[in-house]
This record gives sequence, structure tokens and C-alpha cells, in this order.
Amino acid sequence: MLENKDNSRTDISQLGEFGLIDHLTKQFSIQHKSTIKGIGDDAAVITLDEPIVVTTDLLVEGVHFDLSYMPLKHLGYKAVIVNLSDVYAMNATPSQITVSIAASNRFPVEALEELYAGIATAAKIYGIDVVGGDTTSSTSGLLISITAIGHAKKEDIVYRDGAGDSDLLVVSGDLGAAYLGLQILEREKQVFKVNPNSQPDLDAYTYLIERQLKPEARKDIVKLLADLEVLPTSMIDISDGLSSEILHLCKNSKVGCNLYEDKIPLDPQVISTSEEFKMDSTTIALSGGEDYELLFTVKQEDFPKIKGNPNLSIIGHMTHEKEGVHLITRANTKIPIVARGWNSLQEE
Ligand SMILES: [Mg+2]
Repeated sequence: MLENKDNSRTDISQLGEFGLIDHLTKQFSIQHKSTIKGIGDDAAVITLDEPIVVTTDLLVEGVHFDLSYMPLKHLGYKAVIVNLSDVYAMNATPSQITVSIAASNRFPVEALEELYAGIATAAKIYGIDVVGGDTTSSTSGLLISITAIGHAKKEDIVYRDGAGDSDLLVVSGDLGAAYLGLQILEREKQVFKVNPNSQPDLDAYTYLIERQLKPEARKDIVKLLADLEVLPTSMIDISDGLSSEILHLCKNSKVGCNLYEDKIPLDPQVISTSEEFKMDSTTIALSGGEDYELLFTVKQEDFPKIKGNPNLSIIGHMTHEKEGVHLITRANTKIPIVARGWNSLQEE
């Protein structure tokens, strides 16, 4: 499906470790005043006047990504995005990242250039400096570890533990598309194995595939909330699926939750493709993951500021802890939410 037609191939050993790092990182320039020293010394030097937010993520080939349908440029982009999403989920602003990779010798220099091109694109779009990292060899496959550094005023940082028991539960964007994008790519991979000459027609799934291969972090939502003068009481980004993220907020904040099935935002492609796969779209939104939307709670008095905003959906409200965490279905039945989605046999 995604063959590399470029036959030029430079072995990593031809550049040597230091040559390789220099070669891959020479494109990075410093944009932030807070970066005093980026790549090129024993360590980067950063000066930030505000509390510092740090997050790190490790992506492993075969566990987190499959290169048979994930172009390396997209992988580089996504590896940055998943980290930035965690910084935005603290209501903070990312400013620097470090990037470390381990690659086996099946990856030529040109492949790593592609990976770094994706990293550079994300850094440029989101306005962050790449200030360091490491490149080494691996005995099998590709590993990418990115650390993101951000900052925020102490009073603006939003944790998972601040939700009150009557707060509204809000999510940005729509849910479930990234998971279905992965299902489409997996299906095409199987088709390609059987018939390498088949030309996939993916027009009906463009949004789903883009959400899987080129997710975005919701920098715009952090800005929107600041513009609306809404400070969430708790927040998390959706990496594992709506249900597990709700459970994290509830557990940390010691509250319960009622989530309304009919309020969960779904793209039309999610609805039509769920039907095609004979899957329940609510289950996909709850357990799918990788949407990188922001899930947060706000005080009821902030309702007028967010109502009707096309970027935000109010999907439920928090309750007293002893009421538990439930999905209220379209048929008005109350079902406990469990870590991996929900169990339709467990109706109360
Ligand atoms: Mg997160």
C-alpha cells in the first residue's frame, strides 16, 4: 500500500552517531526567547518565569505504530502531537521538546530524515523548539521517546482532581474517528497482502484516516477557554478513550458522573463507518482512543460562556461520588461505565 519507491539508501553507519545527530538536527532553529541554548552542548538551557510542566511519551514499533501504513513523516508528527496534547491538558503552553530515537539498521538515513521532517513540521506549526535528544541503534525496530516542556501561571494549571459534584462535563471536537481510521488501515493492509495490485478507495474515510495518521493537539481549545474566561475545574486529554478518561477524572476528583449517550459528538463518517463495521458508535467513542480531544469539567455558572460553541459539547455532569459513573443511554437506561467502554449486559 505504501511502498517506498525511493531507492536511494544511505546506511546510518556511513554518517556515524555524531554525524547522524548533526545531520538530522541541523534544520532546527530556536524560536523561543526562553531557550537559551538548544542543541549543540552537553545539555539544553531553558529559562522560564512560570511553573514548568513536563511530560514524556515512548512509542514502540509494533506496539504503538505499524509502519506498513504509517508514513514516517506522519509518525514524527504524531509523536510530537501526543506529547503536546498532554501539556495542553494541563492548560499549559508547550515551548520545548527533546527527541530520542533508537532505530535498527533496516532504517536508512533517508527514513530518519522523513521522521525528523514530521517532527520539524509539528514543531513549526505549534511553535516549539527542539532543544535536544539522542539517536542510537536498536537491535529491532524503531523507538521514539519525546519529552515536552511547557509552562503556565500557577493559578491557571488544571489538574485531574478539581471536578466538583455538580460540574458540567465538556469535550472538544468529536470522538471515535481515530479508532475507525485504524480499522480502515488494518483492513486495507489485509487486502493488500492478498492482492498487492489492489488500489484502495478510501474517499469515504478521509476524515477517519486523517484523525489516525495526522492527529492535532487542541492548542486552539486552550486559547478558546482563556478567551471565554473559563478555567476548567479538571481536565485530561483523550488518548485511551472517553470512558477511561472520565474514570480518571472521577477517581482523582472523588466524584461520580452521568454521561449522556445522545450528547456524545460523532462525525457523520464515524456513524456511517460504524454501521459498515457493524459496531456500536457509542462503544467506539467510549473505548476507541487516540482522539487527542480535551475532556474537562466546568462550574455550572460557566454554562452561558460555553453553550452553543461549535467546538465544545456538554456531554454530562458530575455527581456525588456514591452515585457512581454511568452512561445514560438513548433509551434512558443507566449503565455503569467501566475502564474499557461499557458492558451492555450490566444494565441496572
Ligand atoms: Mg494525557
